[in-house]
Amino acid sequence: MPHAEVAETATAIPALTALAALIGDVQVRNRGTLGGSIANNDPAVDYPAAVVGLGVTVETNRRAIEADAFFTSLFETALEEGEIVTAVHFPKPEKAAYMKFPHPASRFAIVGVMVAQTACGVRVAVTGAGACVFRVPEMERTLEADFAPDAVRGISLGADDLNDDIHASSEYRAHLVGVLAGRAVAAASKYQDIHGASGVGLV
Ligand SMILES: Cc1cc2nc3c(=O)[nH]c(=O)nc-3n(C[C@H](O)[C@H](O)[C@H](O)COP(=O)(O)OP(=O)(O)OC[C@H]3O[C@@H](n4cnc5c(N)ncnc54)[C@H](O)[C@@H]3O)c2cc1C
Repeated sequence: MPHAEVAETATAIPALTALAALIGDVQVRNRGTLGGSIANNDPAVDYPAAVVGLGVTVETNRRAIEADAFFTSLFETALEEGEIVTAVHFPKPEKAAYMKFPHPASRFAIVGVMVAQTACGVRVAVTGAGACVFRVPEMERTLEADFAPDAVRGISLGADDLNDDIHASSEYRAHLVGVLAGRAVAAASKYQDIHGASGVGLV
């Protein structure tokens, strides 16, 4: 499904529609697809933060793969030779928001953070900052006790394993994770559920 269609149809999960609407430009959103994006697993794309942050199930022509097992490393996933993503099932979170610091030209994520309060607890997923999307357990534990922007401000991420390139240093990316996580918590806290659906299945 093209990103533009996700932005228009996945309205039960505003954090997801907002993420899709922030991808690239109009041409990219009309040509790029959810399946292609997650199968490719470029470290700077947005969807991995939604897949891991919302705890989705990826359905393929062979099996169902849980979010935490799907992205394995730089441009690598759990998909095997000839395995095709056929659907992605997004459970509706209690509240969620995605914040990204985009590259000013391509809009790829220099850093993007999805924060979600789900039926299985708080999840914080970061894209753009490392070789592959990752969760931040310390933030998740802290937000579990106190879902407030200030709760994550004091948590600093080590820069050692983060991306360092002409766009942003690893230290800057580490700083952005904290800032964007705080903003995502603030935005998620204002979220009001006006949609009845229990989730979104995108094919
Ligand atoms: C200028 C530009 C700006 C961009 N900005 C952003 C951005 O801001 N944020 C962002 O997230 N992305 C961004 N992108 C990435 C874009 O959104 C696309 O998702 C990405 O280019 C992959 O293209 P595609 O989705 O058409 O997949 P394809 O190019 O068709 O496929 C990519 C790979 O995945 C495989 N594949 C495709 N579909 C499936 C499937 N269903 N199952 C298994 N394997 C499959 C293909 O065989 C191929 O190996 C940008 C791209 C460009 C060119």
